[in-house]
Amino acid sequence: MFDTLHDRLAATFRDLRGKGRLSDADIDATAREIRVALLEADVALPVVKAFIAAVKERARGAEVSQALNPAQQVVKIVNDELVRILGGETRRLRFAKNPPTVVMLAGLQGAGKTTLAGKLALWLREQGHQPLLVAADLQRPNAVNQLQVVGERAGVSVYAPEPGNGVGDPVAVARGSLEHARAKQYDVVVVDTAGRLGIDADLMQQAADIRDAVQPDEVLFVLDAMIGQDAVVTAQAFLDGVGFDGVVLTKLDGDARGGAALSVAQLTGRSVMFASNGEKLQDFDVFHPERMASRILGMGDVLTLIEQAEKTFDAEQSAKMAGKLQSGEDFTLDDFLAQMQAVRKMGSFGKILGMLPGMGQFREQIDNLDERELDRVTAIIQSMTPAERAAPKILNGSRRARIARGSGTKVSDVNGLVDRFAEAQKMMRSLAGGGGMPGMPGMPG
Ligand code: GDP
Repeated sequence: MFDTLHDRLAATFRDLRGKGRLSDADIDATAREIRVALLEADVALPVVKAFIAAVKERARGAEVSQALNPAQQVVKIVNDELVRILGGETRRLRFAKNPPTVVMLAGLQGAGKTTLAGKLALWLREQGHQPLLVAADLQRPNAVNQLQVVGERAGVSVYAPEPGNGVGDPVAVARGSLEHARAKQYDVVVVDTAGRLGIDADLMQQAADIRDAVQPDEVLFVLDAMIGQDAVVTAQAFLDGVGFDGVVLTKLDGDARGGAALSVAQLTGRSVMFASNGEKLQDFDVFHPERMASRILGMGDVLTLIEQAEKTFDAEQSAKMAGKLQSGEDFTLDDFLAQMQAVRKMGSFGKILGMLPGMGQFREQIDNLDERELDRVTAIIQSMTPAERAAPKILNGSRRARIARGSGTKVSDVNGLVDRFAEAQKMMRSLAGGGGMPGMPGMPG
C-alpha cells in the first residue's frame, strides 16, 4: 500500500535537492508531480485539487528557514497536508460514561467487519475491557459461526441468536445483547451487522434500525482500502443511509494504491480511527495520521515499531528470563522458542523492516525474506519431548531421526538447529556470568 505514491514523491523530492531556493517555476513543477502522484494513487480528484492548492500556497509563502533547505521545506509542507487530510489528530474511541459502550460496525459484505470485530475485541481486552461481540449479521448463512470463531480466537464472548430459532431478527438480537451485557457486566458491546455486495436500500434500512435500537456510542464504517475510487461513493452512501462517526480501513496490507485512505476522511469529515493490515487478529492498530503520513513520505515509522515491540516483549516474560540467566540456570530450547515466537509476534520481518526509516528502497528484498526457516525451527522444537528441550545433550541419532520425521524436516536440519542452539547456549552462559545480556530486546542489562 502507498508504494507507488511513496516512490513518486521520493523522486519529486530528490529533484528538489541541491536547490538553493525555489522559484515559482520550481514550485509549479513540483506541484504538478505531486498531483500526478496522488491521482495515480487513486486519491479522489477534489481532494487532490485542494491538496495541491494548499501545498502551492504554503510553498510560495514559506519564509526563509534557517533549519530547513527548500526541499526539506516542501517535504514538511506535504507532510503537514497529508496529516491534515488523514484527519489531523489521532481520533480515539470514545467510551460511554455509563457502560456498556456500544460500537456498531457497518460496511459492505467482504469489507472485513467480522474479522475487525475479533480484532477490536482482542484490542479492547488487552486494554482491560470486557467486550461482548454481537452477531447481528443474520443475512449470510455462515456469519454467526464466523463471528463465533473469531470471538473464540480473541478470547471473548459472542452473543448470538439460539440456533434453530428460525431466521431471527437482527434488531431484536442487537437489543437483547444490551440487556445481556448489562446483566453480565460487559463494558463494551461490538455489534457486527450484515453487509451486501453492493449498496442497497434494505441493507441501509436494517443498519439504521439496528442503530436506532442500540443507540451506539460509535458507528464505525468499515472500508476495504482495495476498492479504489468506489470507496468514496460507498462511504457517502453509508454516511447518508446510516451515518457513522469514524472509519476503519482494512486490507492496508494489499498492494492497492491507497487513495481511498487519503480521500475518505477528507470527503466525509470523519476520521480514520483504526487500520487493519492482515488477516491475523494482531494485524490491527489505532490509526495515527502523523505516522501514516511519515510512512508515505518514507520517514519510517519508528513510533509504531517501538509500540509494537513493547506490546510483544511483555515485562513479565523478560524478567523471568533475565532472572533465569542471572541465576546461571540453563537457557533451554523452550526459552529459545519463546524468544523466537516473541520476535515473530511483532509481525513478519518484512513488516518490521518496512517501518524503519530508509528501508523503503529495499522493500522488494524484504518482501522476499524467507520466513519458512522460522517455521522449520519451530516445528523441530515442537517435535521434541520436554526432556529433550531441557537437555538437548540427550539427543542421540535415533531421537534426531524421530524429530526430523515428526517435524517434516531432514536430520541435517535438526543437527543444524542443535549445533546453533549449543552455540547460543554457550554465549548465554558466558553472558549470564557477566550479568545482563547486551543486545537482547526487552532484557534489562
Ligand atoms: P465481512 O463480510 O465484512 O464481515 O468481512 P470478513 O470479515 O468476512 O472479511 C472478508 C475477507 O477479508 C476475509 O477473507 C478476511 O480474512 C479478509 N480480511 C479482513 N481484513 C483483512 C485485512 O486487513 N487484510 C487482509 N489481507 N485480509 C483481510
